[in-house]
Amino acid sequence: MKVYISADMEGITGVAHWDEVSKEKGDYSQFQKQMTAEVVAACEGCLNAGATEIRIKDAHDTGRNIIGSELPNEAHLIRGWSGHPFSMMQDLDDSFHSVLMVGYHSRAGSPGSPLSHTMTSKVDYLKINDRYAAEFLLNTYTSAFVGVPVIFLSGDQALCEDAKLLSKNIRTVAVKSGMGDSIVSIQTKDAIKQIREITEKAVCDDVSRCQISLPDHFLVEIRYHKHQSAYKASFFPNVKLIDPQTIQFATDEWFEVLQLIHFVI
Ligand SMILES: [Zn+2]
Repeated sequence: MKVYISADMEGITGVAHWDEVSKEKGDYSQFQKQMTAEVVAACEGCLNAGATEIRIKDAHDTGRNIIGSELPNEAHLIRGWSGHPFSMMQDLDDSFHSVLMVGYHSRAGSPGSPLSHTMTSKVDYLKINDRYAAEFLLNTYTSAFVGVPVIFLSGDQALCEDAKLLSKNIRTVAVKSGMGDSIVSIQTKDAIKQIREITEKAVCDDVSRCQISLPDHFLVEIRYHKHQSAYKASFFPNVKLIDPQTIQFATDEWFEVLQLIHFVI
């Protein structure tokens, strides 16, 4: 049984500031270790539940954060970025039993985290069919596109609540909640324990309960901080500039949405 883990860093326990997720800053190594420990805990939960192979995408910034020597033998770690539009879900295909997301964070514009954003810091919001999109939503749609259910999420409380609106049976571990430029966090050891226990339950369960269906049609709206970004993006094929800072794009094909996001944000 193969499982897939996509891991980000802004939703790791205790992270409250960009300095803590930036490789060149002194605060980083403490949180790099915690990110690794939370991914290891997810691996252990999956292995306890019978997984035999684990593919992990290190999906934060450089894609080179997780300390590979800490991972179990069954794990294969994807470091860096290939340039494929699947991005944080690189190499996912229908041979996987399920997807787990670790260290994810609230979307651009959400008060759920001091580090809220969607893919980059360029956008005020990204909406798909009037639903404000976090990376969780984009990557859950990509998983649905290849037919694999997303069964587990850890990250901030607001994202965990959002996730249940999209996928009511997903299991979550909320490791912190955001307020303004601050967070209130659970203990790092408690997060590791909960992630290990809940991932095991999630993999053991009937994972088809977490399978969502993709919409038939996608209306994507992206509002940028800067009008210059919207103007440039408006030259992507079939993109409309609907006001100086906002573009729209309509399609029936999820992969075309991924291509748009890949090139315009
Ligand atoms: Zn990140």
